[in-house]
This record gives sequence, structure tokens and C-alpha cells, in this order.
Amino acid sequence: MSAAKFGRFAPSPTGDLHLGSLRTAVIAWLSARSSSRGFLVRIEDLDRERVLPGSADRQLADLRALGLDWDGFVVHQSTRLARYGEAITSLVDSGLTYECFCTRREVREAASAPQGQTVARYPGTCRELTPPQRRERAATRPPALRLRAQVDQLSVAELLHGTYVGPVEDIVLRRNDGLPAYNLAVVVDDADQGVDQVVRGDDLLAATPAQAHLADLLGLARPAYAHVPLALNGLGQRLAKRDGAVTMADLAARGVGPARVLERLARSLGFGDAQPREVGDLLAEFQLTDLPRAPWIVA
Ligand code: GLU
Repeated sequence: MSAAKFGRFAPSPTGDLHLGSLRTAVIAWLSARSSSRGFLVRIEDLDRERVLPGSADRQLADLRALGLDWDGFVVHQSTRLARYGEAITSLVDSGLTYECFCTRREVREAASAPQGQTVARYPGTCRELTPPQRRERAATRPPALRLRAQVDQLSVAELLHGTYVGPVEDIVLRRNDGLPAYNLAVVVDDADQGVDQVVRGDDLLAATPAQAHLADLLGLARPAYAHVPLALNGLGQRLAKRDGAVTMADLAARGVGPARVLERLARSLGFGDAQPREVGDLLAEFQLTDLPRAPWIVA
């Protein structure tokens, strides 16, 4: 018997979802439901400092108001710390990690090329520290744990970008406050939950080679990825709260209910003048590969 396969939407509960995130959720739902997959929602609440109390419930209510449904219960990453610990231990035991004592600022500065250009990659400052150097640094701050990446570049199958080739960073697996890092948790969760198609915003495209590499090292199946264009404001910047009425609550306060939000999202997805009564009305016509490839300008 083959295990069930799923798509998913995995918001961080740091505030209300804005139109861009709602649109990504609708695409992920349409893509899963139109391809006989189940659909999961996972709350990525590991970053305690950024989590806003009550935000996860509001996000789920907004998804429901748009007519999205999901299978089984909603997993909160904060309940899975033991599983992430197990995955990290297996990487440590295989010699695939090293302790990193760099502060965020040091990483930022070390990653700046002499001309002041910022290179996204961690330059490997702590990769080859000797045991005495490690002891000395450990006296000043607790270490984060990084992946000792085994490859430099990786090519990943991407449903909207064709093959995506990018550098594999020595990503943080465990932060220096002891919490598992997003890149580790997301890989473990998608595999454990049977997610074989990840639809998400294209701000995460560059993280994909490292995540796929991590899945390989953990002996987990890589999902297929589809990175959808972000929503931008009229100035071409990433849509944000400050852009005005961009959440369901803001829009409701101006008399724009869920049905009209859904219509607007449907139009942005290329459904013309469709007036869906519910999101399921879009299923028959939906094709992931037909999606607009340009950012969605929310003006
Ligand atoms: N939790 C992440 C976010 O809200 C999404 C992670 C993912 O989809 O892989 O940006």
C-alpha cells in the first residue's frame, strides 16, 4: 500500500496573513486538491520571540473563511522538539555538523565582500576551528550547530522554475538558544507528514538546495517544490502590513468580505472574471503550471 501524499501550507504565527500569503495558501490548496493529494496545515511556531499569541487561531480562521479545508489535525512545530532533536543527533553522530560561535553581526560582516557587496552565504568561519579555539569561543557564548554541507551546489527539481541550481549553505540546524532551526524542522516535518509537494513563496527558493541536501543526508524523501511569486505593493516592495488593507480583518472592516477576497485572489491567479462561490469552484480549471510568473502587484 502506498502512503497518502500531501500538499501543505505552513504559516509562521507572527501576525495576520496578508493577501500574498492567503494567495499562496489558496494555490497550495488548489494544487493539492486538484492532484488527489491531501492537504495539511502546519503552524511553524519555533521562533518564540516572533510568535504572536492568538495569531495561529486567526490565521486558521482566515483560511476557513476562504473555504480552505485540511486533513487531520494542525501540527504545531513546538510540539515536535524531541523529533527534531533526534534528527540533529543523527547528523552529529555522522560527523555532519560543527559548532558555530558567530553572532548574527559577525556573519553579516564576514559575508560582506570587500566592495561591500553582501554575499548571502555563511563563509564557514567556524568550520575548521581547533578544539582549543572552540573551547575559547565557548567561554564567550553558547554555540549554534551548523550543517557541514557535503556539496557546494545542488540542482533541485522545481515545478515553476524548471530545474533550480543554487549553493548549499552550512545552514544552522540548532540555534544558539537551543531551539531547532526552521531549515531543519521544515525538512523533517514535510518528510514525516508525507508531504511530497511544497508550494510556497519564492522568497524561499534560495533555501531549497540546502533543504533538499539536508533531506538527502537524513535519508528522507525530497518533496517536489513550486515557488510562487510574491505579492508586492505599488512600489515593488514586498507586501506588508503598512500597505493598508491587506489582511482579511482589515478588508472586513472596509466591508470587503471573504467572497470578495476570494474573487480578487482568483483574478490574480488568472481566472479572469470568475466569481467563485467557493474556492472549490476553481478546482476544475486550475493548472499549477499556468500560474502567472510575475509578482502580484497589490495596488
Ligand atoms: N513558515 C514559513 C513562512 O511562513 C514557510 C515555510 C515553508 O513553507 O517552507 O515563511
